[in-house]
Amino acid sequence: MSRIAYVNGQYVRHADAAVHVEDRGYQFADGVYEVCEVWQGKIVDVPRHLDRLGRSLNELRIDWPMARNAVEFVLHQVVRRNLVRNGLVYIQVTRGVSKRDHFFPPAHVAPSIVVTARSSSPTAAKAQAEQGISVFSYPENRWPRVDIKTVALLPNVLAKQNAKEQGGKEAWYVDADGNVTEGGSTNAWIVTKEGVLVTRPAESGILRGITRAVVLDLVQKEGLTFEERPFSLEEAFDAKEAFVTAATTVVMPVTRLDGRIIGNGHPGSVATRLRELFHTATDLQAV
Ligand code: PLP
Repeated sequence: MSRIAYVNGQYVRHADAAVHVEDRGYQFADGVYEVCEVWQGKIVDVPRHLDRLGRSLNELRIDWPMARNAVEFVLHQVVRRNLVRNGLVYIQVTRGVSKRDHFFPPAHVAPSIVVTARSSSPTAAKAQAEQGISVFSYPENRWPRVDIKTVALLPNVLAKQNAKEQGGKEAWYVDADGNVTEGGSTNAWIVTKEGVLVTRPAESGILRGITRAVVLDLVQKEGLTFEERPFSLEEAFDAKEAFVTAATTVVMPVTRLDGRIIGNGHPGSVATRLRELFHTATDLQAV
């Protein structure tokens, strides 16, 4: 089956899907995006993702490309037309197509929107979660507005590639104070030897992950002890468990950090339980 993408009002073959060379996403990374998980034929946490999309657009003064409920409709269509039961759906909105010029384009220029979806293997994800992933630290070198989910991901690309070249799957940024901020495309968590879950507060230095928010809801529901506070790389080396969260990975145990074993080198019981329970705390929309 050939894949289908939505590009500025049309459903087109994925192989033919294209935006103009003067799209500001291409020229300036002047755009934002969202990724929702598709799980067992349902799109996960659409309202929360669209709330965050609205916030990102607002922070950058980009208009919605169309009404929010129309965006929601297209998400469903793209998932359905691609027959995705497990995988993800991606939305990107840019400031539109205009002669290359740093200043914002004239008011009549409409934002561009692209929506794509793709399947992924739940079996492969399960196998990865049973093994855990290896993470490598990387100096924080991003702009301070990482709370906006922009497509300007070059630092994340470089940090993740650095991890990959050492056999890792994710990078953890470490700021000037020695604290872990977040992953290249995930939020970072540890469980201390005392059993306390720790993740950095979303006020600065991280993207306010939707998966992170759901896990925080779950943690409270389960009555687990948690602290939202910065933690250092040293503290992470010493932790009983570590894990990352994102729509693309859900809850993924971290078993190695900079080549050092975390805990007993196997996925921890807290991360494993949170992964099992995760979808009970989400909003699920059937497609
Ligand atoms: N942090 C960064 C830098 C990300 O790119 C992502 C997801 O892409 C996350 C955190 C996790 O966010 P979410 O749980 O909303 O997928």
